[in-house]
Amino acid sequence: MTDMNQNPPLELTGPDRPMISFAGVSKCYGDLQVLDGLDLDVAEGEMVTIIGPSGSGKTTVLRMLMTLERVDRGVIYVDGNPLTHMAKGGELVPAARRHLRRERANIGMCFQHFNLFPHMTALENCTEGPIHVLGLSRDEAIARAEELLTMVGMIDKRDEYPARLSGGQKQRVAIARALAMRPKVMLFDEVTSALDPEVTGEVTQVIRQLVSKHNLTMLMVTHQMGFARDISDRICFFENGRIEEQGPPEELLANPQSERTKQFLSAVN
Ligand code: ADP
Repeated sequence: MTDMNQNPPLELTGPDRPMISFAGVSKCYGDLQVLDGLDLDVAEGEMVTIIGPSGSGKTTVLRMLMTLERVDRGVIYVDGNPLTHMAKGGELVPAARRHLRRERANIGMCFQHFNLFPHMTALENCTEGPIHVLGLSRDEAIARAEELLTMVGMIDKRDEYPARLSGGQKQRVAIARALAMRPKVMLFDEVTSALDPEVTGEVTQVIRQLVSKHNLTMLMVTHQMGFARDISDRICFFENGRIEEQGPPEELLANPQSERTKQFLSAVN
């Protein structure tokens, strides 16, 4: 972990460096301190879930990784490199903006409400980014999209528009679309919360497969404890923008140590 009172390192090196590292990250919205010196490392191939009360800063963590929010203090590293949006003040110069686009391509995100392009078929949703952002040829992009739609069990629906897909199906297409960009890191924000309990399982299964096939690093936010238990290597309980307690799901959920974690878990179960 980096001591933020010193100058933070320009990059994290070495074979054991984390894929994601928040080092002393603080964030305020006006007077509201949302993150307070957050230290959080996620190893390559690890699946970490953040749980915690509403307003504890969970979504802000994901938004910062997406470079949608600026950091007030501290550094966020992805694959050893600090995120560019740390640069404070002023407009980004074009070179920095290009760099930021490349950094963003390392990170895939799926949201609760899918956010598929409604005027594009399942297949087109998956080829749009690879063609226009990564510069793949149409044929390459289609081959990649077909492979991913097959993996998420949606190849039969490749020519359907999102309006004709169920919630679980839309979410599987959204996962394929994010993966088509070959990100190093996937972020999932409440991906099962809008789904009926019976289709949550199909999305959980798809996410599990990703780890075994792609060795992806994943950071998730959920308020569904069953999903967190089924999917995570580690669960972090957030309180007031800090990690109050963390551990493997079976330990943290079954035998929490902190009073606040106990209270939270008994309220949600
Ligand atoms: P969680 O995901 O744990 O519910 P969030 O990270 O969404 O928490 O939000 C943490 C706090 O920051 C909340 O009190 C929320 O109202 C506030 N907040 C989030 N985004 C903004 C914003 N853009 N401007 C002002 N306040 C915000």
